[in-house]
Amino acid sequence: MHHDTALDLEKSFRSHTPGYWKDQGVSMEEWNSHTWQLKNRVTSLKQLEQHLNLSEEERNGVLLSGTKLAMAITPHFFNLIDKDDPDCPIRRQVIPRVEETWVSPYEMADPCGEDSNMPVPGLVHRYPDRVLFLVTDRCASYCRYCTRSRVVSGAGEQELETDYEAVFQYLEKHTEVRDVLLSGGDPLLFSDKKLERILSRLRSIEHIEFVRIGSRVPVFLPQRITPELCSMLQKYHPLFLSVHVNHPRELTLEVKEGLERLANHGVPIGNQSVFLRGVNDDLETMKTLVQKLLLCRVRPYYLYQLDLIKGSSHLQAPVAKGLEIMEGLRGHTTGYAVPQYVIDAPGGGGKVPINPDYIVQRNSERVILRNFEGRTFEYPEPAVTPDPVLDY
Ligand SMILES: *Cc1c(COP(=O)(O)O)cnc(C)c1O
Repeated sequence: MHHDTALDLEKSFRSHTPGYWKDQGVSMEEWNSHTWQLKNRVTSLKQLEQHLNLSEEERNGVLLSGTKLAMAITPHFFNLIDKDDPDCPIRRQVIPRVEETWVSPYEMADPCGEDSNMPVPGLVHRYPDRVLFLVTDRCASYCRYCTRSRVVSGAGEQELETDYEAVFQYLEKHTEVRDVLLSGGDPLLFSDKKLERILSRLRSIEHIEFVRIGSRVPVFLPQRITPELCSMLQKYHPLFLSVHVNHPRELTLEVKEGLERLANHGVPIGNQSVFLRGVNDDLETMKTLVQKLLLCRVRPYYLYQLDLIKGSSHLQAPVAKGLEIMEGLRGHTTGYAVPQYVIDAPGGGGKVPINPDYIVQRNSERVILRNFEGRTFEYPEPAVTPDPVLDY
């Protein structure tokens, strides 16, 4: 039997502490503090070059990032970068490349058409019963393919001008909204107190049944997942969390502990991966990722085709490859480990599920199915007889 030792290693939960910070006299107490991590983020070319051999594409990318989407990488996440591997799946996610300045004609600043679905600043209301509440424009680290790079980090073309009071009043008035998704930027960058003010105000609105937070903080900054934060969140159930993990290496020992702490406080956790060229566009990496997520008690939720964000062509992977990966997962591993592959339809169509075809043929009498092994089966449609007419 063939063993892929590189992936075996990625499947294990490791600690990368203090890594590149070993010679800088950082204490474990500092390292474990989320404020220390945020203060010591890698934000300059000089810092990057201290530790990594940068390519020309990366160096030029960093120099240009200040006018587009800022660069910031927490020491925790930076330690996952392999300095000897120019194709490291971690560095592709957070180190700018000059390709970000190349714009194709079909790429957009606002690929999901969010700005045109904002009834009040900072609130996207696209679906009938749920809304997306953009609470901040800051993140712990910046993903180079950010779908909201037009507003996130403060370096882009627009500013996020969330009007909290107007959002709350809109939600109070719109009784059809039963689900609020807090995102941004990253809501978990707020202090416990500030986050609690938002959650308790939302919970004061009777028709809001379900609240969730979209956050990459458990991955970029696991030190933020404190027992105090978890105890506070626990008061606002049902509260779900959507995290964003793209590659198995991101699931370190510290990240696992943070996710387990959240789960122990009753927070169900889903994962939203983005399908990225050179990061997770092969079956073995994706299978390792989704199985490792289950070990962290996280349910893979969505696999996103990358939005057509300006300057993202170097990270785009073909839909055909995504479908091939989905086929390689379904039936071949735990159903709970299989996410739904979606495309957020360009221009504001919302998320559309895309699936490999398992229906070979279908008519009013029967469905011909293909299973995960490629064998075909027939399922007869129930004969449609008219409902008996009740005669009173
Ligand atoms: C993704 C998204 C949601 C949530 O969609 P689900 O399919 O319920 O996870 C809500 N509003 C907007 C604008 C979104 O993009």
